[in-house]
Amino acid sequence: MTKIRVTKRFHFEMAHALYQYDGLCRNIHGHSYNLQVTLIGETKKQPGNPKDGMVLDFSDLKAVVKSKIVNRFDHALMVNSLFSKKQIDLLKQTSERIIVVDFQPTSENIVTYISEILKQHLPSGVSLFSIRLYETVTSYAEWFAADN
Ligand SMILES: [Zn+2]
Repeated sequence: MTKIRVTKRFHFEMAHALYQYDGLCRNIHGHSYNLQVTLIGETKKQPGNPKDGMVLDFSDLKAVVKSKIVNRFDHALMVNSLFSKKQIDLLKQTSERIIVVDFQPTSENIVTYISEILKQHLPSGVSLFSIRLYETVTSYAEWFAADN
């Protein structure tokens, strides 16, 4: 039994604004997010099976993360539900993609949110090991299953 971690990297562009933040991030602005999703599982021992030796097919991981995260988040604006309804309605007039969340959209909270979504949609036989979300080239937040 060999346990292996496999990682796939993704990218999406998303805007956010931090509610009542005491710095520049209270303004609507965007980031080029980089997302690294790491799964852990046992390699298949099925000689003759085309997927022998894999933890899972990388394309299966890609399909889940693309459909549940990237396609939804890319070119969206994520805002805290604490913004007034009037403000949110105004934003909806100019943007089709608004994600209203019940948390401050920091990298830490977004990476936690992503973990909650992905946990529900992973193929059997693998589990989420960690997720790393880069907000900038030099800053990232990381979620580890072992910590949570
Ligand atoms: Zn920001």
